[in-house]
Amino acid sequence: MPRPDIKPKQSLGQNFLVDANIARKIVQSLDLNADDVVLEIGPGMGVLTRLIQPLVKKVIAVEIDGNLAARLKSEFAATNNCDIIHQDFLKYDLAGLAATNLRIVGNIPYNITSPILFNAMEHREKIRDLTMLVQKEVALRVVSKPGAKEYGILAVQSQAVARVEILMHVPATVFAPRPKVESSLIRWTFTDELAVNIQNGQVFKNIVRQAFGKRRKMLRNSLKDIYDSAPDLTDFTRRPEQLTITEWIELANKVNTVIPEKPEN
Ligand code: SAM
Repeated sequence: MPRPDIKPKQSLGQNFLVDANIARKIVQSLDLNADDVVLEIGPGMGVLTRLIQPLVKKVIAVEIDGNLAARLKSEFAATNNCDIIHQDFLKYDLAGLAATNLRIVGNIPYNITSPILFNAMEHREKIRDLTMLVQKEVALRVVSKPGAKEYGILAVQSQAVARVEILMHVPATVFAPRPKVESSLIRWTFTDELAVNIQNGQVFKNIVRQAFGKRRKMLRNSLKDIYDSAPDLTDFTRRPEQLTITEWIELANKVNTVIPEKPEN
């Protein structure tokens, strides 16, 4: 596979995938079929786009870099199923997309992992799955289980609305320029299995954030306002990393029914 022939922009997290074998494995792991609509974030020089486009019904690829978007537009002009959109994905209107059951894919700059993930969660009714390369530590946090030191906001919020799995670990050597961190390919497959029980998504998010903001403290300290007004709601002597996803949902629902929601600050 050729090395990038344009100067990568560090400010846009341009660490291009230059290993054809890994690119193929990534696309294989997506398990695409001919009915799929794929939304690709940051196609760059099209390494993944080129492999995905022939397999699916449609690709919508959103690239912030004008030069790269223009190159891709001319490369894919002759196909009738690949829209290249020159835009910041963080400003892209997922809600306005007609498609449902979207497959979102991306080798993205790692500093925008969280906004992409939380935006996808907000619009999960439209999305089947989200598969992204992320920093390895982040992937380990997303899939971690109660009791683990990595278990926190990312795990609870992800696992409340999705099944999460690490598909492969990817060494820094497959990118040019080489990033300083190791990467993992991770998939969120959105499901209502547990999420259907969440009565108020905002209360759920607030409580999880508030408790893990002081993760070493017992819940009676980190959730002091709740404990003070309704001490019988749960076992407040526990610490946040001890609660399962189901227990977080139960706690949030109890709070939702007995304590009026405070405006977010
Ligand atoms: N997917 C390509 C690959 O695997 O070689 C490029 C990966 S590179 C890590 C990240 C890509 O995302 C770059 O092409 C960069 O210009 C683009 N990008 C960065 N920020 C973006 C944003 N906010 N919205 C859309 N694309 C973005």
